[in-house]
Amino acid sequence: MIKKFVVAIDQGTTSCRSIVFNEDLQPIGVGQKELTQYFPNPGWVEHDPEEIWSSTLEVFKESVDKAGIDFSSIATVGITNQRETVVVWDRLTGHTVGNAIVWQDRRTFEFCNSMRDDNIENEVINKTGLLLDPYFSGSKIKWILDEHQGMRKRAESGNLIAGTIDSFLIWRLTGGKHHVTDSTNAARTQLFNIREHCWDSELLELFAIPKNMLPEVKDCADSFGSIDPNIFGTLIPINGVAGDQHAATIGQACFSSGMMKTTYGTGCFALLNTGETCVLSKNRLLTTIAYRIRGKSTFALEGSIFVAGAVIQWLRDGLKIIKKAEESENLAIQARSNSRVYLVPAFTGLGAPYWDAECRGAIFGLTRDTGYAEITRAALRSVGYQTRDLFEAMKKDQSDYGIYSGSNNRSQMLRVDGGMVKNDWMVQSLSDILQIKVDRPSVVETTSMGTAWLAGMHIGIFPEEKEFEQSWELDKRFSPLMDEEQANNRYKGWLEAVGRVLSH
Ligand code: ADP
Repeated sequence: MIKKFVVAIDQGTTSCRSIVFNEDLQPIGVGQKELTQYFPNPGWVEHDPEEIWSSTLEVFKESVDKAGIDFSSIATVGITNQRETVVVWDRLTGHTVGNAIVWQDRRTFEFCNSMRDDNIENEVINKTGLLLDPYFSGSKIKWILDEHQGMRKRAESGNLIAGTIDSFLIWRLTGGKHHVTDSTNAARTQLFNIREHCWDSELLELFAIPKNMLPEVKDCADSFGSIDPNIFGTLIPINGVAGDQHAATIGQACFSSGMMKTTYGTGCFALLNTGETCVLSKNRLLTTIAYRIRGKSTFALEGSIFVAGAVIQWLRDGLKIIKKAEESENLAIQARSNSRVYLVPAFTGLGAPYWDAECRGAIFGLTRDTGYAEITRAALRSVGYQTRDLFEAMKKDQSDYGIYSGSNNRSQMLRVDGGMVKNDWMVQSLSDILQIKVDRPSVVETTSMGTAWLAGMHIGIFPEEKEFEQSWELDKRFSPLMDEEQANNRYKGWLEAVGRVLSH
Protein backbone atom coordinates (compact mmCIF):
# COMPACT_ATOMS: atom_id res chain seq x y z
CA MET A 1 0.00 0.00 0.00
CA ILE A 2 1.51 3.36 -1.02
CA LYS A 3 1.22 5.90 1.78
CA LYS A 4 0.32 9.09 -0.05
CA PHE A 5 -2.55 10.80 1.77
CA VAL A 6 -2.29 13.47 4.46
CA VAL A 7 -5.02 14.06 7.03
CA ALA A 8 -5.50 17.46 8.67
CA ILE A 9 -7.31 17.54 12.00
CA ASP A 10 -8.79 21.01 12.64
CA GLN A 11 -10.05 21.15 16.21
CA GLY A 12 -11.90 24.52 16.24
CA THR A 13 -13.96 26.47 18.74
CA THR A 14 -17.36 25.66 17.28
CA SER A 15 -16.61 22.38 15.55
CA CYS A 16 -14.09 19.66 14.95
CA ARG A 17 -13.14 18.91 11.35
CA SER A 18 -10.90 16.48 9.54
CA ILE A 19 -9.86 16.75 5.89
CA VAL A 20 -8.03 14.17 3.77
CA PHE A 21 -5.66 15.72 1.20
CA ASN A 22 -4.31 13.85 -1.81
CA GLU A 23 -0.75 14.08 -3.14
CA ASP A 24 -1.68 17.26 -5.07
CA LEU A 25 -2.76 18.88 -1.79
CA GLN A 26 -6.41 18.85 -2.88
CA PRO A 27 -9.13 18.05 -0.29
CA ILE A 28 -10.87 14.74 -1.10
CA GLY A 29 -12.84 13.90 2.06
CA VAL A 30 -14.25 15.97 4.95
CA GLY A 31 -15.67 14.99 8.35
CA GLN A 32 -17.19 17.60 10.65
CA LYS A 33 -19.01 17.70 13.99
CA GLU A 34 -20.30 20.58 16.11
CA LEU A 35 -18.87 20.97 19.60
CA THR A 36 -21.08 21.64 22.66
CA GLN A 37 -20.40 25.04 24.27
CA TYR A 38 -20.76 25.31 28.05
CA PHE A 39 -21.40 28.68 29.76
CA PRO A 40 -21.42 27.78 33.49
CA ASN A 41 -21.21 31.42 34.67
CA PRO A 42 -21.40 34.83 32.97
CA GLY A 43 -18.19 35.29 30.97
CA TRP A 44 -17.14 31.64 31.36
CA VAL A 45 -16.77 29.35 28.31
CA GLU A 46 -15.86 25.66 28.57
CA HIS A 47 -15.57 22.56 26.37
CA ASP A 48 -15.72 18.93 27.49
CA PRO A 49 -12.29 17.43 26.68
CA GLU A 50 -13.83 13.95 26.34
CA GLU A 51 -16.17 15.31 23.65
CA ILE A 52 -13.20 16.96 21.91
CA TRP A 53 -11.41 13.58 21.97
CA SER A 54 -14.35 11.45 20.80
CA SER A 55 -15.42 13.87 18.06
CA THR A 56 -11.83 14.07 16.79
CA LEU A 57 -11.82 10.29 16.33
CA GLU A 58 -15.28 10.40 14.74
CA VAL A 59 -14.51 13.11 12.18
CA PHE A 60 -11.16 11.50 11.37
CA LYS A 61 -12.94 8.23 10.48
CA GLU A 62 -15.67 10.10 8.59
CA SER A 63 -13.14 11.99 6.43
CA VAL A 64 -11.26 8.77 5.64
CA ASP A 65 -14.56 7.00 4.74
CA LYS A 66 -15.68 9.88 2.53
CA ALA A 67 -12.30 9.97 0.77
CA GLY A 68 -12.69 6.20 0.18
CA ILE A 69 -9.16 5.40 1.37
CA ASP A 70 -7.63 2.97 3.90
CA PHE A 71 -6.03 4.11 7.15
CA SER A 72 -2.90 2.31 6.04
CA SER A 73 -2.53 4.64 3.02
CA ILE A 74 -2.19 7.73 5.25
CA ALA A 75 1.40 8.95 5.20
CA THR A 76 1.14 11.53 7.94
CA VAL A 77 -1.20 13.71 10.02
CA GLY A 78 -1.21 17.44 10.76
CA ILE A 79 -3.09 19.10 13.62
CA THR A 80 -4.38 22.65 13.85
CA ASN A 81 -6.45 23.89 16.76
CA GLN A 82 -8.31 26.63 18.58
CA ARG A 83 -5.50 28.48 20.34
CA GLU A 84 -5.06 29.34 24.05
CA THR A 85 -7.76 26.88 25.23
CA VAL A 86 -6.23 24.64 27.92
CA VAL A 87 -6.70 21.23 29.50
CA VAL A 88 -5.06 19.80 32.65
CA TRP A 89 -4.87 16.02 33.02
CA ASP A 90 -3.31 13.19 35.05
CA ARG A 91 -0.04 11.92 33.59
CA LEU A 92 -0.76 8.33 34.65
CA THR A 93 -4.49 7.85 34.15
CA GLY A 94 -5.16 10.45 31.45
CA HIS A 95 -8.16 11.71 33.44
CA THR A 96 -8.81 15.40 32.94
CA VAL A 97 -9.24 17.93 35.75
CA GLY A 98 -12.58 19.55 34.91
CA ASN A 99 -13.41 21.00 31.53
CA ALA A 100 -11.17 22.74 29.02
CA ILE A 101 -11.17 26.51 29.65
CA VAL A 102 -11.78 28.17 26.29
CA TRP A 103 -9.88 31.20 24.92
CA GLN A 104 -13.02 33.36 25.14
CA ASP A 105 -13.36 32.73 28.90
CA ARG A 106 -12.96 35.89 31.05
CA ARG A 107 -12.83 34.31 34.56
CA THR A 108 -9.24 35.37 35.23
CA PHE A 109 -9.95 39.04 34.48
CA GLU A 110 -9.31 40.15 38.06
CA PHE A 111 -6.06 38.22 38.38
CA CYS A 112 -4.80 39.76 35.13
CA ASN A 113 -5.82 43.23 36.32
CA SER A 114 -4.00 42.72 39.61
CA MET A 115 -0.82 41.83 37.70
CA ARG A 116 -1.23 44.97 35.62
CA ASP A 117 -1.34 46.94 38.86
CA ASP A 118 2.00 45.42 39.71
CA ASN A 119 3.31 47.18 36.66
CA ILE A 120 4.74 44.04 35.16
CA GLU A 121 2.81 44.18 31.91
CA ASN A 122 5.73 45.66 29.98
CA GLU A 123 7.99 42.83 31.03
CA VAL A 124 5.38 40.26 30.04
CA ILE A 125 4.89 41.95 26.65
CA ASN A 126 8.62 42.09 26.10
CA LYS A 127 9.00 38.34 26.64
CA THR A 128 5.76 36.99 25.17
CA GLY A 129 4.48 39.66 22.77
CA LEU A 130 1.10 39.44 24.53
CA LEU A 131 -0.87 41.94 26.63
CA LEU A 132 -2.01 40.85 30.09
CA ASP A 133 -5.45 39.47 29.35
CA PRO A 134 -7.54 36.40 30.37
CA TYR A 135 -7.50 35.45 26.65
CA PHE A 136 -4.18 33.54 27.07
CA SER A 137 -3.57 30.12 28.68
CA GLY A 138 -1.28 30.93 31.64
CA SER A 139 -3.87 32.47 33.94
CA LYS A 140 -6.34 29.70 33.04
CA ILE A 141 -3.92 26.94 34.14
CA LYS A 142 -3.29 28.88 37.35
CA TRP A 143 -7.05 29.05 37.95
CA ILE A 144 -7.42 25.25 37.60
CA LEU A 145 -4.56 24.62 40.07
CA ASP A 146 -5.95 27.14 42.58
CA GLU A 147 -9.58 26.14 42.32
CA HIS A 148 -9.46 22.35 42.58
CA GLN A 149 -8.27 21.15 45.97
CA GLY A 150 -4.98 19.27 46.07
CA MET A 151 -4.18 19.97 42.40
CA ARG A 152 -1.19 22.20 43.00
CA LYS A 153 0.48 19.45 45.08
CA ARG A 154 -0.18 16.88 42.36
CA ALA A 155 1.21 19.26 39.75
CA GLU A 156 4.34 19.91 41.80
CA SER A 157 4.97 16.19 42.24
CA GLY A 158 4.79 15.72 38.46
CA ASN A 159 1.48 13.85 38.30
CA LEU A 160 -0.51 16.52 36.52
CA ILE A 161 0.27 17.93 33.10
CA ALA A 162 -1.19 20.80 31.08
CA GLY A 163 -1.48 21.59 27.43
CA THR A 164 -3.30 23.41 24.67
CA ILE A 165 -5.67 21.30 22.55
CA ASP A 166 -2.97 20.11 20.12
CA SER A 167 -0.96 18.83 23.06
CA PHE A 168 -3.94 17.08 24.64
CA LEU A 169 -4.90 15.39 21.35
CA ILE A 170 -1.32 14.25 20.64
CA TRP A 171 -0.99 12.82 24.15
CA ARG A 172 -4.20 10.82 23.65
CA LEU A 173 -3.44 9.82 20.03
CA THR A 174 0.03 8.54 20.94
CA GLY A 175 -1.32 6.50 23.84
CA GLY A 176 0.21 8.87 26.42
CA LYS A 177 3.72 8.53 24.98
CA HIS A 178 4.28 12.14 23.89
CA HIS A 179 3.65 15.36 25.78
CA VAL A 180 4.57 17.89 23.09
CA THR A 181 3.34 21.09 21.44
CA ASP A 182 4.57 23.40 18.68
CA SER A 183 6.09 26.88 18.90
CA THR A 184 2.93 28.73 17.75
CA ASN A 185 0.70 27.17 20.41
CA ALA A 186 3.39 27.67 23.07
CA ALA A 187 3.58 31.33 22.01
CA ARG A 188 -0.07 31.84 23.02
CA THR A 189 0.25 30.57 26.60
CA GLN A 190 1.92 33.75 27.95
CA LEU A 191 4.47 31.44 29.64
CA PHE A 192 6.78 31.15 26.63
CA ASN A 193 9.62 33.52 25.85
CA ILE A 194 9.25 33.99 22.09
CA ARG A 195 12.70 35.58 21.68
CA GLU A 196 14.67 32.94 23.58
CA HIS A 197 12.30 30.19 22.51
CA CYS A 198 11.84 28.54 25.89
CA TRP A 199 9.43 28.30 28.82
CA ASP A 200 10.31 31.33 30.93
CA SER A 201 11.11 30.62 34.58
CA GLU A 202 10.14 34.14 35.72
CA LEU A 203 6.78 33.93 33.99
CA LEU A 204 6.18 30.44 35.40
CA GLU A 205 6.83 31.86 38.85
CA LEU A 206 4.53 34.81 38.21
CA PHE A 207 1.68 32.49 37.17
CA ALA A 208 2.67 29.92 39.84
CA ILE A 209 2.86 27.04 37.37
CA PRO A 210 5.38 24.16 37.84
CA LYS A 211 7.53 23.77 34.72
CA ASN A 212 7.21 19.99 34.69
CA MET A 213 3.51 20.37 33.75
CA LEU A 214 4.36 21.81 30.37
CA PRO A 215 5.03 20.00 27.09
CA GLU A 216 8.22 19.86 25.07
CA VAL A 217 8.10 22.54 22.34
CA LYS A 218 8.81 21.45 18.76
CA ASP A 219 8.95 23.16 15.37
CA CYS A 220 5.69 23.28 13.37
CA ALA A 221 7.04 20.63 10.98
CA ASP A 222 8.62 18.01 13.21
CA SER A 223 8.17 14.51 14.70
CA PHE A 224 5.34 14.65 17.24
CA GLY A 225 5.10 10.87 17.75
CA SER A 226 2.78 8.39 16.03
CA ILE A 227 -0.88 7.52 16.42
CA ASP A 228 -1.12 4.32 18.47
CA PRO A 229 -2.04 1.36 16.17
CA ASN A 230 -4.78 0.42 18.67
CA ILE A 231 -6.72 3.47 17.49
CA PHE A 232 -6.96 3.11 13.68
CA GLY A 233 -5.28 -0.31 13.32
CA THR A 234 -2.05 1.13 11.90
CA LEU A 235 0.81 3.35 13.02
CA ILE A 236 0.43 6.90 11.58
CA PRO A 237 3.04 9.60 12.28
CA ILE A 238 2.08 13.16 13.26
CA ASN A 239 4.39 15.67 11.57
CA GLY A 240 2.64 19.04 11.50
CA VAL A 241 1.17 21.24 14.25
CA ALA A 242 0.17 24.92 14.26
CA GLY A 243 -2.48 27.07 15.95
CA ASP A 244 -5.39 27.83 13.60
CA GLN A 245 -4.43 31.39 12.61
CA HIS A 246 -0.81 30.35 12.07
CA ALA A 247 -1.89 27.38 9.91
CA ALA A 248 -4.03 29.79 7.84
CA THR A 249 -1.00 32.08 7.38
CA ILE A 250 0.95 29.08 6.10
CA GLY A 251 -1.98 27.85 3.97
CA GLN A 252 -2.08 31.32 2.38
CA ALA A 253 1.66 30.97 1.68
CA CYS A 254 2.42 34.26 3.48
CA PHE A 255 6.08 33.29 3.77
CA SER A 256 7.69 36.68 3.05
CA SER A 257 7.88 39.60 5.43
CA GLY A 258 5.23 42.19 4.61
CA MET A 259 2.69 39.58 3.49
CA MET A 260 -0.58 39.55 5.36
CA LYS A 261 -3.67 37.40 5.65
CA THR A 262 -6.99 38.02 7.36
CA THR A 263 -9.43 35.24 8.19
CA TYR A 264 -13.11 36.23 8.45
CA GLY A 265 -15.07 33.66 10.46
CA THR A 266 -17.00 34.42 13.63
CA GLY A 267 -14.26 36.94 14.46
CA CYS A 268 -11.40 38.16 12.32
CA PHE A 269 -7.68 37.58 12.82
CA ALA A 270 -5.05 39.46 10.84
CA LEU A 271 -1.44 38.27 10.76
CA LEU A 272 1.32 40.34 9.18
CA ASN A 273 4.57 38.45 8.56
CA THR A 274 7.50 40.49 9.96
CA GLY A 275 10.15 37.92 9.03
CA GLU A 276 12.93 37.34 11.54
CA THR A 277 12.16 40.63 13.31
CA CYS A 278 10.22 40.29 16.54
CA VAL A 279 8.30 43.59 16.26
CA LEU A 280 6.82 44.62 19.59
CA SER A 281 3.75 46.73 18.87
CA LYS A 282 3.49 50.24 20.23
CA ASN A 283 -0.11 50.30 19.05
CA ARG A 284 -1.84 47.58 21.09
CA LEU A 285 -1.32 44.72 18.61
CA LEU A 286 0.10 41.34 19.62
CA THR A 287 3.41 39.83 18.57
CA THR A 288 3.56 36.14 17.91
CA ILE A 289 5.56 33.37 16.27
CA ALA A 290 3.94 33.06 12.83
CA TYR A 291 5.58 29.64 12.38
CA ARG A 292 8.86 27.87 13.07
CA ILE A 293 10.44 25.65 10.45
CA ARG A 294 13.92 24.07 10.52
CA GLY A 295 14.76 25.71 13.83
CA LYS A 296 14.04 29.25 12.59
CA SER A 297 11.19 31.38 13.96
CA THR A 298 9.29 33.73 11.67
CA PHE A 299 7.39 36.40 13.59
CA ALA A 300 4.09 38.18 12.99
CA LEU A 301 2.11 41.13 14.25
CA GLU A 302 -1.44 40.06 15.01
CA GLY A 303 -4.71 41.93 15.34
CA SER A 304 -7.87 40.25 16.62
CA ILE A 305 -11.42 41.47 15.99
CA PHE A 306 -14.06 39.73 18.11
CA VAL A 307 -17.06 40.32 15.82
CA ALA A 308 -16.88 39.82 12.04
CA GLY A 309 -19.23 37.08 10.73
CA ALA A 310 -20.97 37.21 14.11
CA VAL A 311 -22.56 40.54 13.11
CA ILE A 312 -24.26 38.70 10.23
CA GLN A 313 -25.41 36.01 12.68
CA TRP A 314 -26.94 38.87 14.71
CA LEU A 315 -28.81 40.22 11.65
CA ARG A 316 -30.14 36.68 11.17
CA ASP A 317 -30.86 35.51 14.74
CA GLY A 318 -31.23 38.79 16.64
CA LEU A 319 -32.86 41.26 14.22
CA LYS A 320 -34.22 38.47 11.98
CA ILE A 321 -33.87 40.62 8.87
CA ILE A 322 -32.24 37.80 6.91
CA LYS A 323 -32.80 34.03 7.00
CA LYS A 324 -29.36 33.02 5.72
CA ALA A 325 -25.97 34.72 5.94
CA GLU A 326 -25.61 34.82 2.14
CA GLU A 327 -28.76 37.00 1.83
CA SER A 328 -26.73 39.84 3.34
CA GLU A 329 -24.99 40.35 0.00
CA ASN A 330 -28.10 41.20 -2.05
CA LEU A 331 -29.52 43.32 0.70
CA ALA A 332 -26.31 45.35 0.95
CA ILE A 333 -26.38 45.93 -2.82
CA GLN A 334 -29.90 47.40 -2.52
CA ALA A 335 -28.91 49.97 0.14
CA ARG A 336 -28.92 53.68 -0.74
CA SER A 337 -25.31 54.55 -1.48
CA ASN A 338 -25.52 57.99 0.19
CA SER A 339 -26.56 56.42 3.51
CA ARG A 340 -24.16 57.21 6.38
CA VAL A 341 -25.23 54.58 8.89
CA TYR A 342 -22.46 53.20 11.13
CA LEU A 343 -22.90 49.99 13.10
CA VAL A 344 -20.29 49.41 15.81
CA PRO A 345 -20.62 45.68 16.63
CA ALA A 346 -19.08 45.88 20.12
CA PHE A 347 -21.40 43.13 21.44
CA THR A 348 -18.67 41.84 23.75
CA GLY A 349 -16.48 44.92 23.81
CA LEU A 350 -13.83 45.72 21.19
CA GLY A 351 -10.58 43.81 20.56
CA ALA A 352 -7.44 45.20 18.91
CA PRO A 353 -6.40 47.95 18.93
CA TYR A 354 -8.94 49.26 21.49
CA TRP A 355 -9.01 46.33 23.98
CA ASP A 356 -12.13 47.71 25.65
CA ALA A 357 -14.04 44.90 27.36
CA GLU A 358 -16.64 47.26 28.85
CA CYS A 359 -17.95 49.12 25.78
CA ARG A 360 -21.06 47.94 23.93
CA GLY A 361 -22.46 48.15 20.39
CA ALA A 362 -24.44 50.99 18.78
CA ILE A 363 -25.93 52.17 15.49
CA PHE A 364 -25.41 55.80 14.43
CA GLY A 365 -26.76 58.00 11.62
CA LEU A 366 -30.31 56.64 11.42
CA THR A 367 -32.74 58.68 9.28
CA ARG A 368 -36.43 58.18 8.35
CA ASP A 369 -35.46 56.30 5.21
CA THR A 370 -33.00 53.91 6.91
CA GLY A 371 -34.16 50.36 6.31
CA TYR A 372 -32.92 46.79 6.57
CA ALA A 373 -30.70 47.22 3.52
CA GLU A 374 -28.81 50.20 5.00
CA ILE A 375 -28.33 48.41 8.33
CA THR A 376 -27.05 45.30 6.57
CA ARG A 377 -24.64 47.38 4.52
CA ALA A 378 -23.41 49.10 7.70
CA ALA A 379 -22.91 45.67 9.32
CA LEU A 380 -20.79 44.42 6.42
CA ARG A 381 -18.86 47.68 6.26
CA SER A 382 -18.07 47.45 9.99
CA VAL A 383 -15.88 44.45 9.19
CA GLY A 384 -13.88 46.56 6.74
CA TYR A 385 -13.59 49.50 9.13
CA GLN A 386 -12.36 47.24 11.94
CA THR A 387 -9.80 45.74 9.55
CA ARG A 388 -8.65 49.27 8.69
CA ASP A 389 -8.19 49.94 12.43
CA LEU A 390 -5.75 47.01 12.47
CA PHE A 391 -4.06 48.22 9.28
CA GLU A 392 -3.54 51.69 10.67
CA ALA A 393 -1.99 50.24 13.86
CA MET A 394 0.22 47.92 11.78
CA LYS A 395 1.30 50.80 9.55
CA LYS A 396 2.34 52.84 12.59
CA ASP A 397 4.33 49.91 13.98
CA GLN A 398 5.98 49.41 10.60
CA SER A 399 7.08 53.02 10.37
CA ASP A 400 8.19 53.05 14.03
CA TYR A 401 10.47 50.13 13.20
CA GLY A 402 11.44 51.50 9.79
CA ILE A 403 10.43 48.34 7.99
CA TYR A 404 8.70 47.85 4.65
CA SER A 405 9.05 51.43 3.54
CA GLY A 406 9.39 52.21 -0.13
CA SER A 407 7.39 51.31 -3.19
CA ASN A 408 7.86 47.56 -2.82
CA ASN A 409 5.45 47.50 0.05
CA ARG A 410 3.98 44.01 0.03
CA SER A 411 1.52 44.86 2.80
CA GLN A 412 -0.35 46.88 0.20
CA MET A 413 -1.90 43.54 -0.65
CA LEU A 414 -4.02 41.28 1.47
CA ARG A 415 -5.00 37.61 1.23
CA VAL A 416 -8.37 36.73 2.74
CA ASP A 417 -10.17 33.53 3.74
CA GLY A 418 -12.90 32.26 6.08
CA GLY A 419 -16.70 31.81 5.74
CA MET A 420 -17.45 35.50 5.10
CA VAL A 421 -15.27 35.95 2.02
CA LYS A 422 -17.79 34.14 -0.16
CA ASN A 423 -19.60 37.49 0.00
CA ASP A 424 -18.22 39.48 -2.98
CA TRP A 425 -19.80 42.74 -1.80
CA MET A 426 -18.06 42.44 1.57
CA VAL A 427 -14.64 41.74 -0.01
CA GLN A 428 -15.07 44.63 -2.49
CA SER A 429 -16.01 46.95 0.37
CA LEU A 430 -12.92 45.77 2.24
CA SER A 431 -10.73 46.68 -0.72
CA ASP A 432 -12.46 50.10 -0.95
CA ILE A 433 -12.02 50.96 2.71
CA LEU A 434 -8.44 49.70 2.94
CA GLN A 435 -7.54 51.16 -0.46
CA ILE A 436 -5.52 48.07 -1.35
CA LYS A 437 -5.89 44.97 -3.51
CA VAL A 438 -7.54 42.02 -1.79
CA ASP A 439 -6.90 38.48 -3.06
CA ARG A 440 -9.22 35.53 -2.46
CA PRO A 441 -7.63 32.10 -3.07
CA SER A 442 -9.36 29.28 -4.92
CA VAL A 443 -8.94 26.93 -1.92
CA VAL A 444 -10.44 28.66 1.11
CA GLU A 445 -9.68 25.67 3.41
CA THR A 446 -6.41 27.43 4.19
CA THR A 447 -6.20 26.38 7.87
CA SER A 448 -6.36 22.65 7.16
CA MET A 449 -4.22 23.01 4.07
CA GLY A 450 -1.55 24.80 6.11
CA THR A 451 -1.17 22.02 8.63
CA ALA A 452 -1.45 19.28 5.98
CA TRP A 453 1.38 20.99 4.10
CA LEU A 454 3.56 21.17 7.25
CA ALA A 455 3.14 17.44 7.87
CA GLY A 456 3.60 16.40 4.23
CA MET A 457 6.55 18.75 3.70
CA HIS A 458 8.31 17.34 6.77
CA ILE A 459 8.28 13.82 5.35
CA GLY A 460 9.11 15.01 1.84
CA ILE A 461 5.85 14.32 -0.02
CA PHE A 462 4.93 17.99 -0.40
CA PRO A 463 7.29 20.65 -1.82
CA GLU A 464 9.19 23.17 0.28
CA GLU A 465 8.09 26.81 0.82
CA LYS A 466 9.10 28.29 -2.56
CA GLU A 467 7.33 25.68 -4.66
CA PHE A 468 4.31 25.55 -2.35
CA GLU A 469 4.06 29.35 -2.59
CA GLN A 470 3.88 29.09 -6.36
CA SER A 471 1.02 26.61 -6.17
CA TRP A 472 -1.11 29.20 -4.33
CA GLU A 473 -3.99 29.93 -6.72
CA LEU A 474 -6.02 33.10 -7.05
CA ASP A 475 -9.79 32.86 -7.32
CA LYS A 476 -10.49 36.60 -7.57
CA ARG A 477 -8.63 39.87 -7.04
CA PHE A 478 -10.61 42.87 -5.74
CA SER A 479 -9.18 46.36 -6.43
CA PRO A 480 -10.46 49.60 -4.85
CA LEU A 481 -13.40 51.13 -6.72
CA MET A 482 -13.95 53.94 -4.19
CA ASP A 483 -11.68 56.97 -4.42
CA GLU A 484 -9.22 57.57 -1.60
CA GLU A 485 -10.82 60.76 -0.30
CA GLN A 486 -14.21 59.14 0.02
CA ALA A 487 -12.70 56.08 1.74
CA ASN A 488 -10.88 58.32 4.21
CA ASN A 489 -14.01 60.36 4.92
CA ARG A 490 -16.06 57.28 5.60
CA TYR A 491 -13.35 55.88 7.85
CA LYS A 492 -13.29 59.17 9.76
CA GLY A 493 -17.01 58.70 10.42
CA TRP A 494 -16.28 55.20 11.77
CA LEU A 495 -13.64 56.56 14.16
CA GLU A 496 -16.16 59.10 15.46
CA ALA A 497 -18.74 56.34 15.97
CA VAL A 498 -16.22 54.17 17.87
CA GLY A 499 -15.20 57.20 19.94
CA ARG A 500 -18.79 57.47 21.12
CA VAL A 501 -19.00 53.87 22.40
CA LEU A 502 -15.59 53.51 24.10
CA SER A 503 -15.83 53.20 27.88
CA HIS A 504 -12.60 55.01 28.64
P1 ADP B 1 -15.86 29.86 12.18
O1 ADP B 1 -14.68 29.09 11.66
O2 ADP B 1 -15.50 31.00 13.10
O3 ADP B 1 -16.96 29.01 12.76
P2 ADP B 1 -16.52 30.25 9.35
O4 ADP B 1 -15.21 30.53 8.69
O5 ADP B 1 -17.17 28.94 9.12
O6 ADP B 1 -16.48 30.63 10.90
O7 ADP B 1 -17.53 31.43 8.85
C1 ADP B 1 -18.81 31.52 9.36
C2 ADP B 1 -19.19 32.97 9.55
O8 ADP B 1 -19.27 33.63 8.27
C3 ADP B 1 -20.55 33.13 10.20
O9 ADP B 1 -20.43 34.08 11.24
C4 ADP B 1 -21.46 33.67 9.09
O10 ADP B 1 -22.36 34.64 9.61
C5 ADP B 1 -20.50 34.31 8.12
N1 ADP B 1 -20.93 34.14 6.72
C6 ADP B 1 -21.05 32.97 6.05
N2 ADP B 1 -21.45 33.19 4.76
C7 ADP B 1 -21.57 34.54 4.64
C8 ADP B 1 -21.94 35.41 3.57
N3 ADP B 1 -22.23 34.93 2.35
N4 ADP B 1 -21.96 36.73 3.81
C9 ADP B 1 -21.62 37.23 5.03
N5 ADP B 1 -21.26 36.47 6.07
C10 ADP B 1 -21.23 35.15 5.89
